[in-house]
Amino acid sequence: MSDVLLFNGRFTTTDERVLGVEDRGFQFGDAVYEVFKFIGKRPAFLLEHYRRMEQGLREIEIRCPWSETEFASAMGELLQRTSFDDGIVYIQVSRGEAERAHFWPENVEPTALAYSRRFRFPDEARKDRGIRVITTEDCRWHRCHVKSVNLLGNALAKKQAQRAGADEAILLAEGFVREGASSNFFAVKNGAVITHPLDEHILPGVVRDRVIGLALRSKVRVDERPLREAELFDLDEAFITSTTQGVMPVTEIDGRVIRNGRRGGVTEKLQLAFDELERA
Ligand code: PLP
Repeated sequence: MSDVLLFNGRFTTTDERVLGVEDRGFQFGDAVYEVFKFIGKRPAFLLEHYRRMEQGLREIEIRCPWSETEFASAMGELLQRTSFDDGIVYIQVSRGEAERAHFWPENVEPTALAYSRRFRFPDEARKDRGIRVITTEDCRWHRCHVKSVNLLGNALAKKQAQRAGADEAILLAEGFVREGASSNFFAVKNGAVITHPLDEHILPGVVRDRVIGLALRSKVRVDERPLREAELFDLDEAFITSTTQGVMPVTEIDGRVIRNGRRGGVTEKLQLAFDELERA
């Protein structure tokens, strides 16, 4: 599929083979990525995505190729050049291209790319019906708060879920629930929302942050603490959050149906509030 591609400051299309074989993103997974959604050519939460990317790059000592304003204007131009109105933009910044060696040269120029893609966002029926999840061991690295392109642990978990007829894998470690393979996880118990606190075990999701704000504003108690695995058996409601799925109800965990397989009231309230905020 041919899409508009911004590569190191130059617009081309995804038909062009742009990456060198010794790009460190390809050789070492030495890169950070970001994904934002756009609706009617307007990016959703662009600044929040930029700030997470900038923070991640800083943590692994890659120079961020854009200032905040340069980024906003580059993404604006990318969307203007895009032939469709709704979709996602994938961004990747790698340390750059250098002769393959674990030690990187200090003066390497980062590789920066971004391209827009069509995306089938969940429809109303899907948002009502929710998804099935499985649980599996978290086998990722120890700095999951950095949105690194090293997604092998996530991809293996996700494939395991697909083979089990589920849509998402919920990652567990030391008897606690962390997050989804490509989402943050929330439980609802006695009217309160419970989700893993921000630390190196989870990605600080842009949607997670907004949903917590919306919950607090509507007087729903928010408990940011690791959920024990055993608590998964005794939930009132559950949902995941992500840029592509928004607030998505979880109606089955490891084959056990939650709430007769129906979206719960707290989940629905937050889902509606988030959808409205995203379009504002
Ligand atoms: N956690 C992981 C591991 C993810 O890959 C993602 C999204 O890709 C999220 C959480 C959700 O983050 P966001 O809400 O910023 O899309």
